[in-house]
Amino acid sequence: MKTQRSRKNLLLQGATGSIGRSTLAVVRKHASQFRIIGLSAHSNSEELLGLAEEFKVQSVALTDESRAEDFRVAARRLGIDRIHSGAEAAAEQAAALDYDLLVNAMVGGAGIEPTLKALQRGISVALANKETLVAAGRIVMRVARENKARVIPIDSEHSAIMQCLMGEQNESVRRIWLTTSGGPFLKRSSNELAKVGVQEALAHPTWKMGPKISIDSATLFNKGLEVIEAACLFDLPVDQIEVVVHRQSVVHSMVEFCDGSIKAQMSTPDMRLPILFALSYPERIQSEIVQTRIPELHALTFEEVPKGNFPCLELAYEALRMGGTAPAALSAADEVAVQAFLNGSIEFSEIVRVLNEVLNLWQYESDEALETVMNADRRARAMATEYVLRLSSKHKAVSCC
Ligand code: NDP
Ligand code: MG
Repeated sequence: MKTQRSRKNLLLQGATGSIGRSTLAVVRKHASQFRIIGLSAHSNSEELLGLAEEFKVQSVALTDESRAEDFRVAARRLGIDRIHSGAEAAAEQAAALDYDLLVNAMVGGAGIEPTLKALQRGISVALANKETLVAAGRIVMRVARENKARVIPIDSEHSAIMQCLMGEQNESVRRIWLTTSGGPFLKRSSNELAKVGVQEALAHPTWKMGPKISIDSATLFNKGLEVIEAACLFDLPVDQIEVVVHRQSVVHSMVEFCDGSIKAQMSTPDMRLPILFALSYPERIQSEIVQTRIPELHALTFEEVPKGNFPCLELAYEALRMGGTAPAALSAADEVAVQAFLNGSIEFSEIVRVLNEVLNLWQYESDEALETVMNADRRARAMATEYVLRLSSKHKAVSCC
């Protein structure tokens, strides 16, 4: 174990969310190793500016256009002179500031452009924002390679796989096993799922997360996104990526090698650990943040994902097999469907119907160019929104009768 000589300067985007706050907790504990020099959020300007004051940052960005004016005034009052606001704010900030590592903790496709801006400058990215890899993974990994920068996953499963692969050859991998807790509805029948409410779907058994990923975890679409994310990050074909239910969330994922050996990475479930790994990579630093008491772990169980219960996971596999922009389209459709469920327009069991509708109509197109991917994202959102409107007007008609 080595100690780092100089502090790493971090730009943290999506600072006001679950991963953003956990990152800040890690930095507070390890202030001699890491320094936050830039922060961004979407609309929560109060929390953002409070953090900017605490960490004395050089730059802030807020992407919600409607709050731009008040935000700029308040940020200037704090003496911050590098202020970005509006839809392009995060990308502009990632392109303009001097930093050592971008921590992308934003949610949704909005994370694509800032990630590319950092990589194009040869700056590595600690990436929580899985939608970026799902939609534009091929482009992101190519830009990283061309500029000798790294994409270091924060998602706990991918952090585990990366750690298991250290010192190994890609050709030696037989398959990887992504673990899933199974979410809150592992044993529910499809009839029971039709009646699920928002609060129930948001209550994950092991992790406390933002609303989108909590709903994605309940449908297991989150695991589907992670299958696609793994294919991009580790350059693996779809049939080498398996999912297994592991209720305790202690084994974060596993790699099975050609000789039959299996490596796993384990700890008490706590996102601060994969965050710390990503921030300190390629080194490991001394930390007491997450402690695991092996004798208290008792049983670790593994079981198959119940067949037929999680069609959203199956759709993600299907999109990965289709290739091209299909994963981008499915991920964009999911953002629309989850938002519609959260605001009461559609039922929980209709999320998969929206995804199905978009994927069924999708035609193959290459995902080599960013413009094509962004265009696919827009078209898929429009298709999903139209289908959501059809579903919600049916609900309104029924409740009027
Ligand atoms: P949250 O919803 O808690 O936080 C999202 C953050 O992104 C907030 O800072 C939010 O700002 C900002 N944001 C929201 N919309 C936009 C937008 N359109 N443009 C720019 N910024 C935006 O999400 P999580 O922290 O749970 O998740 C973040 C990412 O990490 C997701 O991709 C998720 O899948 C992934 N992830 C999360 C895990 C977890 O444990 N939470 C685990 C593994 C991966 P504001 O607060 O102002 O709205
Ligand atoms: Mg995960």
